[in-house]
Amino acid sequence: MEARKYPTDEDAKRDIIEAGRRMYVRGFVAGNDGNISARVSDTELWTTPSGVSKGFMTDDMLVKMDISGNVLEVSGGRKPSSEIKMHLRVYGRSRDVLAVCHAHPPVATTFAAAGIPLDSALLQEAVVLLGVIPVAEYAPPGSEELAEGAARFCPGYNGALLEHHGAVSWGGDVMGALYRLESIEYNATVAMYSRLMGVERPLSERRIDELLLLRPAWGVSGGGRPKGIREEAPK
Ligand SMILES: [Zn+2]
Repeated sequence: MEARKYPTDEDAKRDIIEAGRRMYVRGFVAGNDGNISARVSDTELWTTPSGVSKGFMTDDMLVKMDISGNVLEVSGGRKPSSEIKMHLRVYGRSRDVLAVCHAHPPVATTFAAAGIPLDSALLQEAVVLLGVIPVAEYAPPGSEELAEGAARFCPGYNGALLEHHGAVSWGGDVMGALYRLESIEYNATVAMYSRLMGVERPLSERRIDELLLLRPAWGVSGGGRPKGIREEAPK
């Protein structure tokens, strides 16, 4: 089996702090919302603490855990977020996922509140890179049901909306997972504007076929097929 490219402890912590800062700057989190984690071996990961703004974390706030959820290393008496269960379930479903990001980006969260998946093929790059972002059914925060409800979309999809809650994404490293979260919010914004304009105009199924052929070359292995429209008959 191919060896994983795990980051060092220092690199994982640096990326988690930077991703938290970007999530905060972009308005993806309010108060102490959100959580990020990164695997550093087959059995260990670093994650964000609960009760802290993710925009202002320092090295000593992060928590090292094992893949079963036991805390291994912590300074300052911080606890991991209760939502870490969701991250652990995601890791349990794919050895290729090395990082998970969860936040409440406002437009994606509006779709989550409405229970509407991001499944319309509006933008060419989103068809290739992101695909469909499904909705994980409502479950209480921090619950096993929420964790399992979201994780079941891994590895077939690149992330999920959490009904009445927010969004989660995963990837091969922290920045990759963060970029997917940014893409989810960007695509949700375009979908919202399209609906506000009253003109939601998906790509044709033929164009979607062409775009999906690009996935292997772009290094994308999952994401599902967004909905298009049938090609109009030539006049
Ligand atoms: Zn949340």
